[in-house]
Amino acid sequence: MSESKKYVLSEDRIPTHWYNVVADMPNRPMPPIHPQTHEPIGPEALAPLFPMALIQQEVSTDPWIEIPEPVRDIYRMWRPTPLVRARRLEQALDTPAHLYFKYEGGSPSGSHKPNTAVAQAYYNAQEGVERITTETGAGQWGSALSFACQTFGLGCQVYMVKVSYEQKPYRKLMMNTWGAEVIASPSGRTAAGRAILAQDPDSPGSLGIAISEAVEVAAGDEHTKYSLGSVLNHVLTHQTVVGQEALVQMEMAGELPDVVIAPFGGGSNFAGLSFPFLRLNLREGKKIRCLASEPTSCPKLTRGVFRYDFGDTVGMTPLLPMYTLGHTFVPARIHAGGLRYHGAGVIVSQLLKDGLIEAEAVDQIESFEAGVTFAKAEGIIPAPEANHAIASAIREAERAKEAGEARVILFNLCGHGHFDMAAYEAYFAGELERHELTQQQIDDAVAKLDTPTEPVMAK
Ligand SMILES: *Cc1c(COP(=O)(O)O)cnc(C)c1O
Repeated sequence: MSESKKYVLSEDRIPTHWYNVVADMPNRPMPPIHPQTHEPIGPEALAPLFPMALIQQEVSTDPWIEIPEPVRDIYRMWRPTPLVRARRLEQALDTPAHLYFKYEGGSPSGSHKPNTAVAQAYYNAQEGVERITTETGAGQWGSALSFACQTFGLGCQVYMVKVSYEQKPYRKLMMNTWGAEVIASPSGRTAAGRAILAQDPDSPGSLGIAISEAVEVAAGDEHTKYSLGSVLNHVLTHQTVVGQEALVQMEMAGELPDVVIAPFGGGSNFAGLSFPFLRLNLREGKKIRCLASEPTSCPKLTRGVFRYDFGDTVGMTPLLPMYTLGHTFVPARIHAGGLRYHGAGVIVSQLLKDGLIEAEAVDQIESFEAGVTFAKAEGIIPAPEANHAIASAIREAERAKEAGEARVILFNLCGHGHFDMAAYEAYFAGELERHELTQQQIDDAVAKLDTPTEPVMAK
């Protein structure tokens, strides 16, 4: 693969390679470190949980990683996804800006998440793994992985946070339809779950507890591995099919975006859309702004600190260098469940630290206002997470109007909101509140972190 190629696309318009931005970063991310010694840990530490192919991708510095043909074959079920010029939204806003969105909601489970779920299921099947465990909160990731495991004949066990299990029965049934076993967490299946239940039989569960259960099962069974839907490098890389397609589609439209916008939870859909454009900045001196849109109630990028921190809430993972509010930070219950993560992927964190990408925070009421404006203009009802990107895109369009400039704005409509209508109901009923954390709340959350800013180098 020639390094000078601007994008990688076969004649059927599905990319042949994933793009790994690490190859082009001026400062590579710092290594994961051991929670006690604070020394860098090697990829072998991940071997009990992930197949070798994914561990290699996790530490890869190659710019392009070939997409296996069986994975492209599954992608073909819904890819390439449409790039749409939102002309009716432009009219509704009366803006000279050109607004484009890339729509990932047409995937089987309704979001961008199958782009990595399918790849992860494939490599696990290749290495003889029989079953994958994972956790899910709102249910987007659990459904994507259930679909993906089914396509490669793998078993799938999803630990679903108990409150969601009870409040979102249709997400659970979706997973069941694809053959997955869905277990309300905390459960009696694991030591971690039993310990919680012994203290509190009515525990509503949390993502942290569900992670502990899924990891415990994978670590204790040689035929079972574990899978994550965001944050990790290989996950971000898999999502770059989105941006590569968008780049070609923008060229077909005869435009290059001035700004690329995506909502931000752990960073995967943001990375997926923006990294192929960021590549043009890093290699060809283009100046495309890449803007991550996060909720004001969980503002790790705009108000967090850059520190080593645990990837999970319980403190079981290696320490990762990232923007974080501290792993014990509990965000207010906002309805964009997918954006409540305390930290951020290490690649995105390093890029933000180096000023190569930007971030802003959007309140949930502004985000729902934007989502409803969008739905009225373009027809599609967006996932609450995607509403943050729409709100940021509308802000940019308003600025373009003030400046009288035909700026080109591209955003990721990373999922539809058909399973999230209860959140819209709460918004219509006026039950959503503005959530702005005080500086004291941020300081208190971050003060609990006693982790280092630099690795300790082994002697
Ligand atoms: C999971 C999810 C997110 C947040 O995760 P990222 O890794 O930041 O993309 C955003 N939107 C949707 C629709 C999701 O399912």
